[in-house]
Amino acid sequence: MATTADERLATALRARGHRMTSQRLVLHRVLTELGRHAKAEEIARASAQRLPGLSLPTVYATLELLEELGLVRRLATGGGPVLFEARGKPHAHAICRRCGTTTDLAIDAEEDDALAVAGATGFVADHAQLLIWGLCERCAAQAAAA
Ligand SMILES: [Zn+2]
Ligand SMILES: [Zn+2]
Repeated sequence: MATTADERLATALRARGHRMTSQRLVLHRVLTELGRHAKAEEIARASAQRLPGLSLPTVYATLELLEELGLVRRLATGGGPVLFEARGKPHAHAICRRCGTTTDLAIDAEEDDALAVAGATGFVADHAQLLIWGLCERCAAQAAAA
């Protein structure tokens, strides 16, 4: 699994003429190992042991590159923090507007269809995301009890 992720990174970097660096290797590995959405700060903390002296701007720059390479997905959660995740199977996200919990939903959101519709209007689309807003189970229970 780790090897596959490393190989995917190496191939993607090479295809765009980028070098492999320890930052790129470790940050991509950490995100893959986390297996969930994380803030840049969390990713930096999880990488600190393996990358002493790692700065937050470097983390952001590296995540941006990984996003460009299609290996990382960035979730803009409205007013909440920007979250990053290793790009796996396509899925949708449910975000709790009270506590910010972000849950993966196994919806085979047809990104390609959405992009095709956008393209038909002349819009040159990069990617699409399905975000569902509401209350998570816990917050919904608390709201009902209040
Ligand atoms: Zn919640
Ligand atoms: Zn996700």
